[in-house]
Amino acid sequence: AEGRPRVTDIFAKHQGLREAYEGLTAASPRNPFEVVIERPISASVGIIEGRETLLFGTNNYLGLSQSKKAIEAAVETAETMGVGTTGSRIANGTFGLHRKLEAKLAEFFRRKHCMVFSTGYQANLGTISALVNKDDVLLLDADSHASIYDGAKLSGAQVIRFRHNDPVDLEKRLARLKDHTGAKLIIAEGIYSMTGNVAPLDKFVDIKTRHGAYLMADEAHSFGVLGAHGRGVAEMQGCEDGIDFVVGTFSKSLGTVGGYCVTNHDGVDLMRLCSRPYMFTASLPPEIIAATMAALEDMQARPELRTKLQENAARLHAGLQKVGLKTGEHVSPVVAVTLETVDQAVGFWNALLENGVYVNLSLPPATPDNRPLLRCSVMAAHSPEEIDRAVAVFGEVARHFGL
Ligand code: PMP
Repeated sequence: AEGRPRVTDIFAKHQGLREAYEGLTAASPRNPFEVVIERPISASVGIIEGRETLLFGTNNYLGLSQSKKAIEAAVETAETMGVGTTGSRIANGTFGLHRKLEAKLAEFFRRKHCMVFSTGYQANLGTISALVNKDDVLLLDADSHASIYDGAKLSGAQVIRFRHNDPVDLEKRLARLKDHTGAKLIIAEGIYSMTGNVAPLDKFVDIKTRHGAYLMADEAHSFGVLGAHGRGVAEMQGCEDGIDFVVGTFSKSLGTVGGYCVTNHDGVDLMRLCSRPYMFTASLPPEIIAATMAALEDMQARPELRTKLQENAARLHAGLQKVGLKTGEHVSPVVAVTLETVDQAVGFWNALLENGVYVNLSLPPATPDNRPLLRCSVMAAHSPEEIDRAVAVFGEVARHFGL
């Protein structure tokens, strides 16, 4: 051993995580991080552990992962163009299709510019890190998604968190920055992914105007879902003109994968040459672009999907409250049932799955207020009977646990 260099255990830093993980998985009949959907049968039903299971924990709000038009477009495009681009958007990875999708999205959002990224996560990383640097200030809602926090880190900008959905707190913090010479960028989401809370974007627009800041909205969960045309919370609240940058994803309401940023600011042209998460990664494969375009057309042609989604959201929300469970106040397609302890949540989640209902088990620290959540998401594709069945199972399990 003498003379050998000392090796510092590279995994030692994970010890705390390992203990938490092992404690959790030991207490659970199945590992909540290793659920396998062996096969989706439809948007609302998948095979899990060999059984048909109702899917109430996907982000497939409009059911478009199963869109016939999108499937046909993907197959035809793969057959004619192949399955990948093998390159970055700024080298060999821009096909005519990428430009076409960007033009379509810009038109849909009624904005001058659109940049498409390979994921929604990268859309946040790539937009935030290109817009601000160490001389600037980011004002982030405290409950922001990890991709927003990671984009902030990558940017090097000063980060100030304001209380979740709280315009008064935001304004107080902005007032303190009166003499700051750098740019100020406020970031909020449309619908919050864990709780279903809807942001007061209209109030934030008023504040950003009065304080000389920019405003970016991540409409990942609200694109296709809210607003008369599906342009999100900003459309619903009538404040689109005041939002400088809208970011979002294709991986929820459109059922594919990829992300976007739309804006009227001409400056984004150069973002294509300084946004590292845009430049240093392969572009989306052509079949995904084609499927995304077809899903967008499908979404625009079927506004009734949004009406159905809202009806379904209201049905699930009311049903869960009726069986005595604690849900958020907003009726949105994300319906989160709050429980008190992690043990309770793990037991409840397992029992739901054993009774044929899959939801997301969301645990602290990934949840607001450090409370465990059973995060349900509703789809336009759910039938009223499927929702009632899920509510009945929730009710039975709640009774079993004495809740
Ligand atoms: N923003 C928000 C608010 C999200 O919830 C998510 C996904 N959970 C993302 C961005 C990232 O999107 P994607 O999973 O498509 O990369």
